[in-house]
Amino acid sequence: PAVLEARGLTVRYGETTAVDSVDLAVAPGSRTAVMGPSGSGKSTLVHALAGVVRPAAGEIWFEDERLDALGEAERSRRRLARMGMVFQLGDLVPELTLVENVMLPLQVLGVRARQARERALEMLDALGVADLADRRTGAVSGGQVQRAAVARALVHDPAVVLADEPTGALDSLTAEQVLDTMVSVTTAAGAALVVVTHDHVVASHLDDLVVVRDGRVAERVVA
Ligand code: ADP
Ligand code: ADP
Repeated sequence: PAVLEARGLTVRYGETTAVDSVDLAVAPGSRTAVMGPSGSGKSTLVHALAGVVRPAAGEIWFEDERLDALGEAERSRRRLARMGMVFQLGDLVPELTLVENVMLPLQVLGVRARQARERALEMLDALGVADLADRRTGAVSGGQVQRAAVARALVHDPAVVLADEPTGALDSLTAEQVLDTMVSVTTAAGAALVVVTHDHVVASHLDDLVVVRDGRVAERVVA
């Protein structure tokens, strides 16, 4: 019983087929690395799984619901409520402090500010950056920004966290530390984790492996 599943998923940009008839099931609580050459379709696959990119063909199932058949508004509601996303450069709002950034998903879901702040601080604490809560992104390091981005992705207890090169902009030691924390916090929350990465050290911290080549799943290793 997958929490998130692609069936015959195909995504095209004009003439380019970025994702080509992919079948992929993500088990609840699993930890998967998505690897493959640049331009092979990893990023597009993950964005399609999140319902951000519309498929040309195939189906995406998320928590027993067909995500691709929903309208734009419903899809983004499911994503905001039940998924977390982390990108290479954190993607935090620079005008807000770390804690304000982490509060955002909760506030979108209607949680009151005081309660949202409390929960956001707990998450920042779990990621080891609670003492930086009131700083803006420009006043902390890249690794600390990524920790806050992971806190934001997890603060609303999502079923799945999708990360696209989350440590790609970090030095290798920091990358490994952030990834380690990301894995342990995601596991503690019971969420499935899917991480696009070029980095074999990062991939070694995850259990399952999907290798993408030319838009297809070339290899699948399940622990
Ligand atoms: P990867 O993440 O493995 O580097 P991408 O999913 O970014 O691969 O890209 C897969 C293919 O789709 C590439 O040929 C890329 O140039 C193309 N592509 C990705 N995004 C777009 C886009 N927004 N518009 C047009 N082509 C795109
Ligand atoms: P990565 O290889 O790390 O996945 P890319 O540098 O391929 O990232 O892509 C970065 C961004 O540019 C993505 O949002 C992707 O959708 C977009 N993109 C990639 N290739 C193209 C393209 N050929 N045309 C337009 N946008 C693209």
